[in-house]
Amino acid sequence: MTTKKATPVPAKKGTVVEQSYNPFETAQAQFDRIASMLGLDGPTRDLLRNPIREYHFSIPIRMDRGGIQIFRGFRVQHNDARGPCKGGIRFHPLETIDTIRALAMWMTWKCSVVDIPLGGAKGGIVCDPHNLSLNEIEQLCRGWVRQIARDVGPCLDVPAPDVMTNPQDMLWMLDEYEKIHGGRYPGFITGKPISIGGSLGRKEATGYMVVLTIREALKELNLKPENTTASIQGFGNVAQYAVELYHKIGGTVISVSSWDPTDNKTFCCRKLSGILFDELKSISDPFGTINRKKAQDMGYEILPGEAWLEQDVDVLIPAAVENQISADTVPRINRRVKLIAEGANGPTTPEGDLMLDKRGTFLIPDILCNAGGVTCSYFEQVQGNMNYYWDEKEVFDKLDAKMTSAFHAVREVSKRQKLPNRDAAYVLAVNRVARACKDRGWC
Ligand code: GLU
Repeated sequence: MTTKKATPVPAKKGTVVEQSYNPFETAQAQFDRIASMLGLDGPTRDLLRNPIREYHFSIPIRMDRGGIQIFRGFRVQHNDARGPCKGGIRFHPLETIDTIRALAMWMTWKCSVVDIPLGGAKGGIVCDPHNLSLNEIEQLCRGWVRQIARDVGPCLDVPAPDVMTNPQDMLWMLDEYEKIHGGRYPGFITGKPISIGGSLGRKEATGYMVVLTIREALKELNLKPENTTASIQGFGNVAQYAVELYHKIGGTVISVSSWDPTDNKTFCCRKLSGILFDELKSISDPFGTINRKKAQDMGYEILPGEAWLEQDVDVLIPAAVENQISADTVPRINRRVKLIAEGANGPTTPEGDLMLDKRGTFLIPDILCNAGGVTCSYFEQVQGNMNYYWDEKEVFDKLDAKMTSAFHAVREVSKRQKLPNRDAAYVLAVNRVARACKDRGWC
């Protein structure tokens, strides 16, 4: 193994622990292990353990209160051997280039594991949209596009929503791209509003498909959804739709956690009889921050942030940010937890992985578990290219078929090669990308 071990930094209890590990070191360590397993040669490893291109830029914004503020923006294109790069844009105050590098690499593997003809990228802006007006957010979206407009596009790199970005942001980005290039380019971006080239089902796709992978895993574990309980980290787009579908298939979510940017604290809302989705949604802001006081008034117990993983449940769904399940937190996970479904990207550190594996916990790895979002983005591109849009049933049926077949392909490798699910997913994904690079004569 050629990479350094990730260096944990203890995080204060109840605070966001996103920065405790360097996610890019984690991503490279995961890749290096699989590269050795697959016996990849030196040039292929060199090519795949780093991004193929990356862009760093400044975005000046005229603030509502007067004066100009400069924001940092990034786009990292990890690999495009299997097709144009694809991946979301995050707005987050703790954004770092290494987080984006890791997320771009994970996008390459994610598109590959579900076998869609796309590569991997990720972008971001260091900002907290909670503290920005709509006008300032619009300027940020347009400014991001102006800095990168020549290096992205339908055949190069196609952005999408991610943490704290939404369909309206995508539309401002599309509009700016079309102003620069002159013409209509619906294939430049996905996650658009339904009325302007978006796909039905896109906003639900990630959360719903997380639950679909849980459905398949529960069958293997001989558990009926209606006899299971779950605890979820996060209450953003992925978590919300995961809660909704988990309840529809008969399960009970007893707790969700949320992040309050005003004091950078996470907290957990618990109701042992099952949280009521509509109730919590009605007291959340558009970024998934639940109003703590109102939740308490509605009868929810408010617990410290990391309590979400200490619950006596069957299923844990981390659906927030990176590095939440680590050597520090695994000992706090209840022994009764049978299944962990990674709705977030990179929620588990390599040390956390080893510990879960020893416990025998069934893990659905992120690159498979949350791939429903990018798969629906791919369907949005397909529909846009045809200029003919499917109804919701067709979208969900196609998503179900793609995700179910990817789930079983991973399980087959896992059983055949006696590998943990994450390694099996990586073996499948990295192999396909390495093959594409070789076939193109890149390495
Ligand atoms: N941001 C999502 C992800 O991490 C979706 C990306 C896309 O739709 O391109 O998978």
